[in-house]
Parts: sequence; structure tokens; C-alpha cells
Amino acid sequence: MYDFIIIGAGIVGTNIARELSKYPFKTLVLEKENDVANHQTVANSAIIHSGHDPIEGSLKAILCVKGNALYEELEHELNIPLLKTGAFVLAHDEEEEKMLEELKIRADHNGVPSSTILDGDTARKLEPHMSDSATKVLSLPTTKVTYPWEVAFACLENAMKNGVEFQKNQEVTNISWINDHFVVETNFKDKIETKNVISASGIFSDQIAHMLEKNVPYTIKPRRGEYYVLDRRVKGYLERVLYPLPTSKGKGVLLVPQVHGNILVGPTSVEQLNKTRTNTTLDGMKQIKEDAARLAKNIPFDKTIRTFSGIRAGSTYKDFYIQESKEYKGFFHVAGIDSPGLTAAPAIARYLVDELIKPNVSKKDDYDPIREKKIFFYTLSEEEQKKKIKENPLYGNIVCKCEKITEVEILEAIHGPLGNDTIKGIKKRARAGSGLCQGGYCENTVLKIIARETNQPLDKINYYGKDTPILWKETKVK
Ligand SMILES: Cc1cc2nc3c(=O)[nH]c(=O)nc-3n(C[C@H](O)[C@H](O)[C@H](O)COP(=O)(O)OP(=O)(O)OC[C@H]3O[C@@H](n4cnc5c(N)ncnc54)[C@H](O)[C@@H]3O)c2cc1C
Repeated sequence: MYDFIIIGAGIVGTNIARELSKYPFKTLVLEKENDVANHQTVANSAIIHSGHDPIEGSLKAILCVKGNALYEELEHELNIPLLKTGAFVLAHDEEEEKMLEELKIRADHNGVPSSTILDGDTARKLEPHMSDSATKVLSLPTTKVTYPWEVAFACLENAMKNGVEFQKNQEVTNISWINDHFVVETNFKDKIETKNVISASGIFSDQIAHMLEKNVPYTIKPRRGEYYVLDRRVKGYLERVLYPLPTSKGKGVLLVPQVHGNILVGPTSVEQLNKTRTNTTLDGMKQIKEDAARLAKNIPFDKTIRTFSGIRAGSTYKDFYIQESKEYKGFFHVAGIDSPGLTAAPAIARYLVDELIKPNVSKKDDYDPIREKKIFFYTLSEEEQKKKIKENPLYGNIVCKCEKITEVEILEAIHGPLGNDTIKGIKKRARAGSGLCQGGYCENTVLKIIARETNQPLDKINYYGKDTPILWKETKVK
């Protein structure tokens, strides 16, 4: 019998797993996909927001500001990448300047540290590509940027080091309450007994809740956001995150420098019924270019290497819904976690555990908060690279030429603590295929390495989720 089953291994489920691993609980994380972080956590702007725009007093506001501060702790304990960029919110005329003043009041009320209003020229000296028409900006020095799925891997790896169990490809299909505990059923017909269930299932939260509750207090309203990804050779074009003034639709189209040097431009905000359709559209791409032109000049769209979209788990409740079920004690909703859910995730985990679960046992003495630093070969000096190649000649085999990713890093991605055997899984861990050619050159080699290392035929290697093979059948007789 488990003490806790967490449904979902996105940024929220993995942070909760880590928080619970501080206690002597028996905890299991179930994830329906073949990898951690395959939904919202893999397709977002990667911003650790300061907390300037959520409504005062909302859980979004409180947990965003707390989460932003907690990322500094995660940086030290889990060695996650964190770019301390800061951000500017732009105003272009008197009316917008008034809105900017109101936003500054909201930021102060939310507890955002050190925000200031600067005039346009001062801000342009710091950010020379910022739009000439911006008259004032709200400067938010605590805004940061991370690598979201790496944070989820780090949290879950650390939770597992501290005793949490993880099962992927385990889709929860039913939850029932029998006598004094829950029985969680999965697609493998497993029936797993647990005293408590935490649903951190993103856009699927309402479906999970309906498995148990008669009156689910929210409905998920999926909202797509589309992006351009600019190649990392644009590094230096922009130091800070640039935001427009927020509207009822959200934070708007942004420019976001990324930890590996790329720039994201987006997202749009369009409601859709489908929870998994992540295509991009001509209208969305046009909208981004139009909106981004108000933020910056000469945006290097000619360096676009990819477009993508993510689906936000908006909800009819409007705020994060983090509550114990009114119908079943021991079932916890962590739902409606759209933006700023990435930022808030570590604070959501603490809030859930400290304020709602309130463990009646002491923390473990041997809890180890540290996760080893992951070092990319391309970031090392020439001397250090030579030393590595001497130690292991496979460092000399550069598989992904664009991002300079070595065979050793591919092997670590396959065999690491949360190893994976899909092309996208390797891309998420080692960054092979993240560069200019988007895998056109290295995908074939990565495919062969996965097949060799996992003893699988080439046509059984999946691109992303289940049943997504790249190769269908042989076209030539050997
Ligand atoms: C376009 C976009 C931009 C965003 N930008 C930002 C930003 O810059 N900053 C920020 O703070 N936030 C941002 N967000 C919000 C942030 O990405 C999310 O709030 C956060 O990723 C939510 O994490 P999660 O773990 O709740 O959900 P998810 O990452 O969606 O994870 C839920 C998991 O549950 C699993 N699951 C679902 N059903 C089942 C089942 N039946 N059985 C087993 N597993 C199941 C899913 O497979 C999934 O892995 C953005 C979101 C989007 C879409």
C-alpha cells in the first residue's frame, strides 16, 4: 500500500514528488507518457516570472512570487540552469504608461522585489534592440529563464534518490474508493492501492477528477500558444525578457532569451476544444510577428529554426485549484495549473504538503537534496575537452554537429537515472537535434545508437510518444 500516488510527471508532479521525498512516505509517480515532461512542461516560454501580473491575493500571485525565490534554492541544490535575465514590460503612450503604473502597484502588492519604472531611452541603452516607440518600461529584475524539462528531470531524479518510485507508460484509467483506501487502475490493468492520491495531471485534471468525484469544481479549457524558435547564433540580440502590457488573454507575445542562447518569440493565446492538438498555424505565426514588432526592432526571424505550440491547462476556476476533494478525503486536486505554473511549481509543492497534507511525521534525517551538476561538453574549454577525450575517446565523436553534442552525452541520455529511448527523449536530455538543422543531420545516428544500446530493431525506435516510429520498413534488400 502506498502512502501517496502522484498522477503526472510534469513540473508540478515532479516537484511534489521531491517535496514528499523529504518524509518517510511510500510514494509512487505514475505517468502515462513514455517520458517525464511531455505536455505543458515541454512547450512553454521557460520564464520564471517575477509575479507582476497575477491578480492580487490569488494563489497564482502568492505562489508565483514564492516559486520565483525558490528557484534560487533549486539552482544550488539541483544544479539546474537559471539565467538571471530580468525583464521589461513596455508602454508606448500615456494611456499605457498609466497601465504600467497600475502594474507596478500590483507588482508591489504581490511582493515582487525591486521593480522600477524607467524611461524608454534609459531602457534602450540597456536593451538596444527594444522598440523605438516604447516610452516607459517596468523593470523586473527578478525575472529569470530556465530549461523547464531539465528542472522536472532534476526534481524526479532527486526524489527517486530519496526513495520515490516512478513508472512511465502507466495511464491512470480509473480511481475508486474501497473501504479505507483508493485503488488506482492503469492501462496495464494494474490495481494499485494507496492511502492518498494527488492529481497533477495538467490538461487532463478534470478527466482524472471525474473518475472519482460527482461534482468536479472546474473544467479545463485548453488554450494553445504558438512560438518561433530563433537559432542560438542570435545570442546577444537581447539580454532581458520583453513583455507587452498584460491583457485579459494573458501576458501576450513575448521575446525570451533562452539558456542555450536561442530566443523564443510567442506565445499566442487561442482557446481550443482539443487537448493534444499542438500544430502551428499561419494566423498564429502572422500574429506573433505583428505583436512582437511592438516590442523590438529588426527581430532576426530569418534565423528561425523551428515553430511549435503548447497547450495551457486554463480552467473555469480562473485561479490554481489546489484543494483536497470535498467528496473524498485523501484525494488532492492540483489543477488549472496554467501560467505561471512553471514558476510556481516548487511553491505549489510546498503549499500542498505543508498547508494541506500537513504530514504528521518528521522529515527524514538522511534526505539528500543534492543532484549532481550536468555539464555539456560544448561549454568546456579546449583544454578540458581534450582531457575528456583522453579519458573517453567517445567524447571525440560529435554526433550533433550543430550543438556539438558527443556520443557520451547521447549514451548518458539513454542510460541515465531517467534514461529514455526515443529521439525526442534524447533531444530533451542531450540537446542532440536542437540546433540549426533540427536533427536533419544527427537523427539518423541517434536512432542507430538507441537501437544498438537498447537492443531494439531500428523500426521499433519511437520519435516521441508511443507508436511513433520514424522508420516503417526497409526499402532495400541488403
Ligand atoms: C504556451 C505556454 C506557455 C507557458 N509559459 C510559461 C512560462 O513562461 N512560465 C511559467 O511559469 N509557466 C508557463 N506556462 C505554464 C506551465 O508550462 C505549466 O503551468 C506547467 O508546465 C504545468 O505543469 P504540470 O505538471 O501541471 O502539467 P504538465 O506538464 O502538462 O504535466 C501533466 C502530466 O500529467 C500526465 N497525465 C495526465 N493524465 C494522466 C493519466 N491519466 N495517467 C498518468 N499520467 C497522466 C501527463 O502525461 C503529463 O505528463 C506556459 C504554458 C504554456 C502551454
